[in-house]
Amino acid sequence: MGDTKETARRLALVTGASRGIGRAIALELGKRGFDVAVNYNNSAADAESLCEEIAKEGVTAKAFKGDVSVAANIPQLFKAIEESMGTVQVLVNNAGITRDNLLMRMKEDEWNAVIETNLTAVFGCTKEVIRGMIKARWGRIICVSSVVGIVGNAGQANYSAAKSGVIGFAKSVAREYAARGVTVNVVAPGFIETDMTKSLPDNTKAATLAQIPQGRMGLPLDVARAVAFFASDESEYITGQVLAIDGGMTMC
Ligand code: NAP
Repeated sequence: MGDTKETARRLALVTGASRGIGRAIALELGKRGFDVAVNYNNSAADAESLCEEIAKEGVTAKAFKGDVSVAANIPQLFKAIEESMGTVQVLVNNAGITRDNLLMRMKEDEWNAVIETNLTAVFGCTKEVIRGMIKARWGRIICVSSVVGIVGNAGQANYSAAKSGVIGFAKSVAREYAARGVTVNVVAPGFIETDMTKSLPDNTKAATLAQIPQGRMGLPLDVARAVAFFASDESEYITGQVLAIDGGMTMC
């Protein structure tokens, strides 16, 4: 074919695609010939502008509002996507938040908000797509975890627990549906330049940067390229894997 576009147009849903890593993933998938359902929660204007940008690639992109941390919203979100764009063939579980605190000070609502958004939503969204993928005997599920889900991080017990949970969840689902043409893989970004890391104190940023052999923060596109690979036919024989995208920070 000479270019990177998929031969048949497939539909990808990216949760939390209005900003940061999710935005880059949605755009990269659009560039590679996927139609894209752009999920967002608060950033409606960003989601709409992203859809316009993706549409320039000659594919269809539509924005769908939905707070995926609320379990009751998830069936409605998928119904709206199904009616408007069809069945989701690639699911990227990306939506995530942090509510950092030392364990001694961590409030129950900080724990719950992070678990609901970063882990329970992954369960809910994956459950919505699995039947359709089994029926089609083809599906790609990619979860955005974090290197802290592998190595832990002081001040992020809630976030690390959720991101570890995503890895265990993905490996189990990968095993359940491996024989049905469905792959489930995880990307574990390190320290990526987005709104999530922008507000970190300068000394924290400098200390983290000092631990990155490549000597730079990652860009959302660094993560998006790996996700696009897992979404493609080329990754057919890879499932249940965790790929760290961290400039060599963890090497685990
Ligand atoms: P970000 O810049 O803060 O963007 C977060 C995105 O998630 C936004 O588009 C936001 O949408 C969406 N979102 C948050 N809560 C949501 C909800 N309840 N329902 C639907 N969408 C929701 O974060 P990011 O850095 O791009 O992070 C993306 C993913 O990568 C997260 O899972 C994060 O944990 C992970 N990650 C990030 C880093 C990093 O260094 N940045 C490292 C490792 C892993 P609205 O603005 O529309 O509300």
